[in-house]
Amino acid sequence: MSDWYRDFANSGFGTTITRQLGLPRPAVLRRYEPGRPLLPGPAVLGSTGGGRLGDTLTRVLTDAGVAVLPPVVADGPTDGEKPAAVLLDATGLTSPGQLAAAYQFLAPAIKRLGTSGRVLILADPPAATDSPATAAARQALDGLIRSVGKELRDGSTANLVYVPEGAESAVASPVRFFLSGRSAYVDGQVLTLAAADVPTGEDGERPLAGKVAVVTGAARGIGAAIARVLARDAAHVVAVDVPAAGQSLAEVANEIGGTAFQLDITAADAAARLVAHLRERHGGVDVVVHNAGITRDKLLVNMDAARWNSVMAVNLQAQLDLTAALLAAEGVLRPDARIVCVSSQSGIAGNRGQTNYAASKAGIIGMVRAWAPEFAARGATINAVAPGFIVTEMTAKMPLGTREVGSRINSLQQGGLPVDVAETIAWLSQPGSAGVNGQVVRVCGQSMLGA
Ligand code: NAD
Repeated sequence: MSDWYRDFANSGFGTTITRQLGLPRPAVLRRYEPGRPLLPGPAVLGSTGGGRLGDTLTRVLTDAGVAVLPPVVADGPTDGEKPAAVLLDATGLTSPGQLAAAYQFLAPAIKRLGTSGRVLILADPPAATDSPATAAARQALDGLIRSVGKELRDGSTANLVYVPEGAESAVASPVRFFLSGRSAYVDGQVLTLAAADVPTGEDGERPLAGKVAVVTGAARGIGAAIARVLARDAAHVVAVDVPAAGQSLAEVANEIGGTAFQLDITAADAAARLVAHLRERHGGVDVVVHNAGITRDKLLVNMDAARWNSVMAVNLQAQLDLTAALLAAEGVLRPDARIVCVSSQSGIAGNRGQTNYAASKAGIIGMVRAWAPEFAARGATINAVAPGFIVTEMTAKMPLGTREVGSRINSLQQGGLPVDVAETIAWLSQPGSAGVNGQVVRVCGQSMLGA
């Protein structure tokens, strides 16, 4: 399932042709590989003035072995190493006039940004002030970063993290994620952190050591990729899928040294069986990834009850029931548990022929947001990941034209890979991601749909 067009556009002949015809030239994205440095080059760090995160950001970067450069001077020398990342501490803004400092810092730095570069802005949340001028300045960064994401080329991404007062210790994990190859297909996203008890120390290359992770729908596709990445990050994975997928489920589980658990998550006794299995075999669970999902597409006017009901049952009701049962079962869900629910871009943008699917996937977002305070009170988190166009066996079967359009209408001009969804889920599952709660992270290359 290689991206023939991307490979062509990056060949010598293809580069010339695409340039002459003004066609898109999707880059080969920098993806995470254990053992590689966080960034392939130095980072430029700047501030809009009076920010409170400078020391924190410098420490995160230097701890990760990243050299920190001062702001790039406009019209300055163009020799020397290109920055691999541009970070702006925009905390402390109180009026729109101060935003000029943001573009003055960003413009020359972004001009020098290397391929698969990263632009990351950190700011105070707009909702955390009563002052219209302050809120305006903070919210302005949302429009700025989304536009930067659309202007960047060569596989570079731009994201914004709002950091409330008191959430400074939660910053390290998202900063490392957004700079690393783990976030290759996460672009134009805006997250808001929360204050949380974040364990000290880096999450390193085995961040899930000692953890038990359940992944539903793990027999193939995105679920299998999630199982592989969580296992790579040292979790013991309990791979769940329907009995009919038992053979491939066992193969995935064997490959990653995990265990297979055959379960139809919509069965009346599914929640009780899962709770009992986790209690008896593993003593509890640390990470639950609700990935299993189905589509039964039809226009609403032609929708039969079976299509509507089956999609709701697998995609939404099962996530609600299993999560509620895990919360209710004493001692099974570990106090610092991480729940990650797979939603979809269709749940944000809507999609013709997918009223049932989009309703179920939007419902997940409502569920996650409503549950977040209860999870926070336990020291746990619950988040949603919303994939955009992901290259899977399913999308490979689409007609060429539909597939080409679907995969190119995003800032990175290509489809994502199952591993991109998996890396985002693995990051949300880390102990250090304690301050990311109730969020929806799109893995869509900054899709133009539902933007
Ligand atoms: P897939 O069809 O390849 O895999 C889904 C897996 O879930 C299968 O192994 C299936 O057997 C399992 N499953 C279905 N019903 C189940 C049940 N009742 N109990 C247990 N397991 C069950 O799908 P995929 O493309 O890998 O998608 C995975 C998730 O990502 C889904 O939630 C999907 O909605 C979401 N998603 C996918 C895309 C994409 O582009 N592929 C985009 C957005 C969201």
